[in-house]
Amino acid sequence: MSLKLFNTLSRSLEPFEPLDPTGRSVGMYCCGPTVYDFGHIGNFRTFVFSDLVRRTLEFRGFTVRHVMNITDVEDKILRRLRETGLSLREYTGKYEKAFLEDLVELNCRMPHHLPRATEFMPQMIDLVGKLLKRGIAYQTPDGSVWFSITQYQGCGCRYGQLVKLNFDEMRAGERVSGDEYDKESAADFGLWKARVPDDGSVFWPSPWGDGRPGWHLECSAMSTALLGPSFDLHLGGEDLAFPHHEDEIAQSEGALEYPPGKRFVKYWLHAAHLLVEGKKMSKSLGNFFTLRDLRAKGYSGREIRQLLLSAHYRETFNFTLEGLDGARSALSRIDECVAKLRGLATSQTGSADVDVLARFTEAMDDDLNVSKAWGVVFDWVRDQNRLLAIGGMTSSMAATATATWDRLDEVLGLGRRLEDPTPSDAMALLDARTAAKKARDFARADAIRNELKEMGWMVEDTATGPKLKRV
Ligand code: AMP
Ligand code: ZN
Repeated sequence: MSLKLFNTLSRSLEPFEPLDPTGRSVGMYCCGPTVYDFGHIGNFRTFVFSDLVRRTLEFRGFTVRHVMNITDVEDKILRRLRETGLSLREYTGKYEKAFLEDLVELNCRMPHHLPRATEFMPQMIDLVGKLLKRGIAYQTPDGSVWFSITQYQGCGCRYGQLVKLNFDEMRAGERVSGDEYDKESAADFGLWKARVPDDGSVFWPSPWGDGRPGWHLECSAMSTALLGPSFDLHLGGEDLAFPHHEDEIAQSEGALEYPPGKRFVKYWLHAAHLLVEGKKMSKSLGNFFTLRDLRAKGYSGREIRQLLLSAHYRETFNFTLEGLDGARSALSRIDECVAKLRGLATSQTGSADVDVLARFTEAMDDDLNVSKAWGVVFDWVRDQNRLLAIGGMTSSMAATATATWDRLDEVLGLGRRLEDPTPSDAMALLDARTAAKKARDFARADAIRNELKEMGWMVEDTATGPKLKRV
């Protein structure tokens, strides 16, 4: 079976076949964060989803070139600059750094390129120039440049590929200048925004005068500059499909004049939104969580990742703290099992169980069907636990099992639990065992040893006294 993904462009499941004629290399672009604040748990649902896509492709043997932009000039950022009086770089640098730390906390593989919009001005200006030359863009007297949907359609191009639009309601030449705007109506959008006093010192020179790029333009320029005019995968949250991604298609396909059969992007993947307690996250509702808020509540990045990976990416996901507690216990079931297997395998190496991998791969091949994949994982955990409980796990079987888990975890990315500190109750039991031995109460000493074993600890009598080791 081959990997199938749901392409928003065709609204159907399609077999994944890369553009690379050798079938090996894959170009993948994910719209990155607007660095105006700390990333919230909804943003990270989308970024963990893109990490899952990348890991699944790498697991399947593809070589992925992963690009994620950093939107460091945009309306919301400019508003914050006016409020704080900070320079653009001072302001965005803080949130960019925090974002990258959060990605590490969630064990996301770092994108190979993290282009900042402000560092791609020549490429953006070049795209605008091409659109003007083809008559698809026009300039207004203030020096702004707009994308003309009517002219674009007049060139035989289609606007409205990712969503169905009602063009009867569209008033030709109607313009939207903001980066955040009505998600329903198709209107000419700003490619280059002429400098206004509110922009302060945030502007760049261009052939049309000082100004700054529109948000959509940033992604067209950075993706094609780093991945070439045509690439395989473009990802983002569902809110980006329109108008952001539709406008990216229009700008790129309008400017780059693709030969027949060539496109800007082959597969568009969108992750559904995350709700909190069934509602859209908002600061006023008090249901707004950044990753850092959850960390401050004592949850680890691994537990949050486990939760975010528990639902299929195209399902709206309802985040609750109870759900996060559930993810914590699911993860600790895996951790306990894997720790025991590693303890038994000691230094033996084994090769992964091909049947388990085949079942897991089949699940993920079905448009990243994580529910099925978790089914495979937890059946496997249950089987290992059964064998461990009856003492039927040899060290070579444990080595096979740990190798299997390591392969599964290449996709899941849960990583290893930091070796727990020796809990105080286990230490207290160890002292009680030492006292029992001293009193020559060997039955009691053995009973304590067994109790410790059940808790996942082995007692080793060493020259310097008894020590605890993870089973
Ligand atoms: P932004 O920083 O606002 O540009 O958003 C970064 C990414 O997070 C985009 O791909 C958005 O689609 C995505 N996103 C924003 N809000 C949510 C949410 N509630 N659930 C899932 N993804 C979201
Ligand atoms: Zn984008």
